[in-house]
Amino acid sequence: MSATSTALEFALRPSTTPVAQVRREEILASPGFGNHFTDHMATATWTADAGWHDDAVVPYAPLTLDPAAAVLHYAQEIFEGLKAYRHGDGSVWAFRPEANAARLARSARRLALPELPEAAFLASVEQLVRADEAWVPTGGESSLYLRPFMIATEAFLGVRPAREVRYLVIASPAGSYFSGGLKPVSIWLSEDYTRAAPGGTGAAKCGGNYAASLLPQQEAVAQGCDQVCFLDAAEHRWVEELGGMNLYFVHDDGSIVTPALSGSILEGITRSSILQLAADAGRKVEERRIGIDEWREGVQSGRITEVFACGTAAVVTPVGRLVSREGELVHGGGEIGEVTQSIRTALLDLQYGRAEDTHGWMRRL
Ligand code: PMP
Repeated sequence: MSATSTALEFALRPSTTPVAQVRREEILASPGFGNHFTDHMATATWTADAGWHDDAVVPYAPLTLDPAAAVLHYAQEIFEGLKAYRHGDGSVWAFRPEANAARLARSARRLALPELPEAAFLASVEQLVRADEAWVPTGGESSLYLRPFMIATEAFLGVRPAREVRYLVIASPAGSYFSGGLKPVSIWLSEDYTRAAPGGTGAAKCGGNYAASLLPQQEAVAQGCDQVCFLDAAEHRWVEELGGMNLYFVHDDGSIVTPALSGSILEGITRSSILQLAADAGRKVEERRIGIDEWREGVQSGRITEVFACGTAAVVTPVGRLVSREGELVHGGGEIGEVTQSIRTALLDLQYGRAEDTHGWMRRL
């Protein structure tokens, strides 16, 4: 939609009441995930008349929203998720933030929101992380999780794209996702609910997709599982993805296969990075349709040797069990498979600066 004439810089307006150092260190010692927020947030406003403006990094604070704000009624909202990683020398880096900027722009188009220019997205992330650098944890697989999002703030109850929008980035320190060590996840196959339909919003990262996944996720937990797996909405036959992660299947010839982007799958940045890293390592990689029958038969016959899920939060996670009304399918022996482990290590080594960045994926913040 409207572009801005001047570049957004997200200049810092520092907080006068930052969290005390002792308290911050206490939080960073065991941050968990998504519980604590840093001292600042990035913000910018878009109006149909003036484009993007009022950009700044400001003290973290609650928002004031008109009760008629469109986002509260029609869910005109999109978001992103990425991490800032501290390397061994103390420097702080983001992993492929340009890919998050591009995905936010694709999501914006689908939700009839204004696109934020890539340079503005990168500036918002850089400026926020610089302001809150002390909040980037050190050690293990810890990181500072960044959550850019865009909401329709216009106070108007008519159903049309809002003419006033706000973009924000908040940051939350994240500990190792698996505090008790890497544990295979169990998956419940959702056969009563789908996540996204052809022509719907599945390929966009919008809040509505996640609202729709909560009930099936609750069902998964009731079945003793950690995550829910969705099939396609038209034939209920093709494996799509989990509620918040993409899936990979490892075959007995060492090749890896992931469901092809169907228009209703979220194009994960971890997913595409693995396609590249595995190819770099000389592994055969494939994107194609995978039926639920192929999954079951493959595990039973031994053709599928490992299954793993991937995403920014949990990186690469082995799938230990698939549970459905038909019964239970067990993968591996509750251990992480060799291929899953090697892909996980390759990705983490890159993100934490322990491997050469041959693709120029790391961006210093
Ligand atoms: N699928 C869904 C539905 C997700 O929410 C996520 C997390 N963004 C992913 C896949 C993985 O994407 P990424 O690797 O970019 O985190």
